[in-house]
Amino acid sequence: MGPIQIKQILSEANVGSEVVVKGWVRTKRESKNAIFIALNDGSTIHNIQAVAEPGQINEETLKLITTGSCLKVTGNLVESVGSGQAVEVKLTDVLVYGTADPDVYPLQPKKHSLEFLREIAHLRPRTNTFSAILRIRHALAFAVHKYYNDNGFYYLHTPIITASDAEGAGEMFRVTTLDLNKLPRTEEGNIDFKEDFFGRETNLTVSGQLEGELGAMALSKIYTFGPTFRAENSNTTRHLAEFWMIEPEMAFFELEDNMNLAEDFVKYVIRYALENCADDLNFLQKRLEEEEKSKPQNERSLPLLEKLRFVVENAFERITYTEAIDILMKSKPFKEKKFQYEVAWGVDLQSEHERFLVEKHFKKPVILTNYPRAIKSFYMKQNEQTANEPGPTVRAMDVLFPGIGEIIGGSQREENYDKLITRMHEVGIEPESMWWFLETRKFGTAPHSGFGLGFERLILFVTGMTNIRDVIPFPRTPKSAEF
Ligand code: ATP
Ligand code: MG
Ligand code: MG
Ligand code: MG
Repeated sequence: MGPIQIKQILSEANVGSEVVVKGWVRTKRESKNAIFIALNDGSTIHNIQAVAEPGQINEETLKLITTGSCLKVTGNLVESVGSGQAVEVKLTDVLVYGTADPDVYPLQPKKHSLEFLREIAHLRPRTNTFSAILRIRHALAFAVHKYYNDNGFYYLHTPIITASDAEGAGEMFRVTTLDLNKLPRTEEGNIDFKEDFFGRETNLTVSGQLEGELGAMALSKIYTFGPTFRAENSNTTRHLAEFWMIEPEMAFFELEDNMNLAEDFVKYVIRYALENCADDLNFLQKRLEEEEKSKPQNERSLPLLEKLRFVVENAFERITYTEAIDILMKSKPFKEKKFQYEVAWGVDLQSEHERFLVEKHFKKPVILTNYPRAIKSFYMKQNEQTANEPGPTVRAMDVLFPGIGEIIGGSQREENYDKLITRMHEVGIEPESMWWFLETRKFGTAPHSGFGLGFERLILFVTGMTNIRDVIPFPRTPKSAEF
């Protein structure tokens, strides 16, 4: 449907046929014998080369054909005599749809820094690096749906506007229709949300989990895949204020089943990218190799494709939080006081600790389980405390990846009504405010589990990029929301 894309023209390589190519000029080169125009339409990393004879394109038009201009080229597909491409278009006609004044067009045919490209997020999809990332992002999203569909999960659409704060972390964007300059007040002086559109305090979702649990307690296996919002004022390379999360939730799954699913799922989508995004991955691998050249030999990382294949082909390490603390406390950086943050049983792990376990100790992805109850959410299933654990734990599981740290957070959920109520009181949640959630435990409760995968963190791993702002089309961080 619609005009034929460059990807199709190149793959069919129907030499002798007439083609019409529509796309943006990457480069124009004039020599004594010919004019070469490299066109790209974003359907593939590869350009198609159009060749014209000197004088064939009138002077006026030729001047308008510059990097960034948009063209319609008609011609015959012929075998290319030059190296670098199998076929090219012998131009018979050209139409300029839109010009791009080279004096002001920000993208020139040279390597731009990622920092600069972040400032022109509206144009960066026209670069090789970003178009490759966006195509891989698309393929991974498709693979996510395919995986769950093929495994009997239903796609559940959980609300964006919600009154629940699943994580209890308080990092929420408030949603209100109230006039902020004239906030109605109750007699006690609090904001009176009764006059709000929803009649109560609402926020943008931080996780679809709680609503996802409602789905799992009816359809058995569901997943959500949508935007998630966290008002985290942290300027790290792994946090966005708006990110996409994939959250499967399954009735009758215990922690072990949950881990098996997480591992199988992540391997599936990475394998899907390896099989379906070879050109783009090869391009990104070469790009990374250029960067690595400046590093000393022993600090260079594995080529991108090898790194991906390794993860797909090897079992993830599975250890408990208590074992992880033990390893960290015996580690060289701990003894040499090289960790910035505290390591002790009961303290949450920081990215530096997670990365030590994954990159230095096990040298493979790690699934960490059974975290201290005090540092995890109220809804996680409580464990019987064992002799070697200084305090009570819950059936949590985090999946840690090289170069990133946590990519998945999940758990088996507490299905016992009374235990859940007690825990809510302990952490200061009014059970009445979550009556709808508690009814799943009151009526036909069932063991169930689930997890959340940060989609951008997965894309970081697959593309080898290092800043989360570079794997989402329009990053939302404290300092960037231009449009
Ligand atoms: P972190 O410890 O890295 O802040 P978290 O424990 O707060 O993550 P969870 O609430 O467990 O995150 O959310 C599940 C997953 O969502 C995480 O494992 C991560 O992949 C992703 N995620 C969480 N916060 C962000 C964010 N601000 N930007 C991008 N992805 C995120
Ligand atoms: Mg967080
Ligand atoms: Mg965390
Ligand atoms: Mg987490």
